Amino acid sequence: MRLGFNGATSMNYDLETDIRLAQKAGFELLEIWAAKLNKYLEASSLESLKQLFEEANIKPYSINSIEFITFKEGEDYEKIKSECKRLAAIAKELACPKIVVVPSPTPEGATEEDVIAESVKVLRELSEIAAEYDVDLAFEFLGFPHISVSTLGLCWKIVRETDRPNIGLVLDTFHFHAGGSSLDEIDGVDKDKIFIFHINDAEARERSELEDAHRLFPGEGVIPLKDILERLHRIGYDDMVSIELFRPEYWELPADELGARSFESVSRVLRGIYR
Ligand code: ZN
Repeated sequence: MRLGFNGATSMNYDLETDIRLAQKAGFELLEIWAAKLNKYLEASSLESLKQLFEEANIKPYSINSIEFITFKEGEDYEKIKSECKRLAAIAKELACPKIVVVPSPTPEGATEEDVIAESVKVLRELSEIAAEYDVDLAFEFLGFPHISVSTLGLCWKIVRETDRPNIGLVLDTFHFHAGGSSLDEIDGVDKDKIFIFHINDAEARERSELEDAHRLFPGEGVIPLKDILERLHRIGYDDMVSIELFRPEYWELPADELGARSFESVSRVLRGIYR
């Protein structure tokens, strides 16, 4: 299992720091936070970024993210498509294989059938754009009640129906827990369609109250990570895992400490199952 670090975990630090932090802590992969990428490119070139990754021996794994891709119309939808094209061109240049895409809130009155039809339509259109650059799109369900795709089961149904080689899903343990996905939902998923696995833990709160800021280092909260990992192991998933925390308190930590605690906490929960 390759270990990755997600730029949301260190939101206050820039992309250069993320690369250094990931290297120092022992990670192999970095998920690039898109806003940091944009900031970097304002002042420096893509070529220099590529060099930074190479020198650190860190592989860029994804760009996070294009948010709320579904239920957009007219100019708003054109913006999603052009952002997909822009990020896919950058990803190709960086040899970064994936981009994370996120479903929208449920419009009033929309049924599950509407959500499936809309998601499949949009993912197929974006799939074509990304395929021109040999980039994969990873659809990430969010376990919040107002989001149109909030469980692993529905996300997998959509990805399966979309049926494109470059469309897969993100399994994020926080969203898995917050949205009430069941462990049995993991069993039905094709392991090769889990493009990204985000790991994190959560405070003991009512699921409906959970927010991104309640994420904790793996092993410090109430999510049954061992059970999730065992199920993933059982379906043969062993590709990568990336730590993604959105906890403002952690953003204040010195970069090296944040990197080290991230690496240690992920390694600890994997132990006995994956390494
Ligand atoms: Zn995530």
